[in-house]
Amino acid sequence: MTALTIEDPSLVLLVGPAGSGKSTLARRHFALDEIVSSDALRAVLSGDEADQSVSGRAFAILHREVARRAIEGRLTVVDATNLRRSHRRSLVARAREAAVGAAAIVLDLPPDVIRARNASRTRVVDGGIVTDQLGWLRRTIDGGQLGPEGFDPIIVLRDPEAVDRLAIVRVPLTRSG
Ligand code: ATP
Ligand code: MG
Repeated sequence: MTALTIEDPSLVLLVGPAGSGKSTLARRHFALDEIVSSDALRAVLSGDEADQSVSGRAFAILHREVARRAIEGRLTVVDATNLRRSHRRSLVARAREAAVGAAAIVLDLPPDVIRARNASRTRVVDGGIVTDQLGWLRRTIDGGQLGPEGFDPIIVLRDPEAVDRLAIVRVPLTRSG
């Protein structure tokens, strides 16, 4: 078992390519009303969770929700790829404005595992897009981007066994002053 301690409330970003298992991990460890999902918002807006034409609107809602929930003191899990620094930055800024921390759970599984999972689903993401996402993932991890961006704690899960061994321990956020 690997225990990850996170404050409640805090902002928890899942980070990983399509098919890496973000939604599965979110459902396993968090309540449904704690998860904000870009796929779910696209589905609400267009009836199709993969419809990229409504992505801009979906992320605008997602960012507003993250801000509102942080101010209300609710733990929030962002189920989106979160592979671009620019996307993460505005989410962390919203957590910081509300004086809550930001944690990152990274699904850095072997590319063949990710590609096989993606291919075996009903909603298959284009292979070229997954290749791009794997590149952004490497830059994020190998470039050590998450710490300087303000994430703490950060956990990087590198194989399915590590994902299975994950346990999440919540501790109440202690505010000073
Ligand atoms: P997307 O970004 O496209 O929404 P995702 O990261 O949310 O993808 P999931 O839908 O959670 O990925 O998982 C992708 C596939 O991998 C699914 O078919 C799921 O059943 C399988 N999977 C996820 N996690 C595990 C696991 N721990 N063990 C075995 N299979 C898994
Ligand atoms: Mg998903």
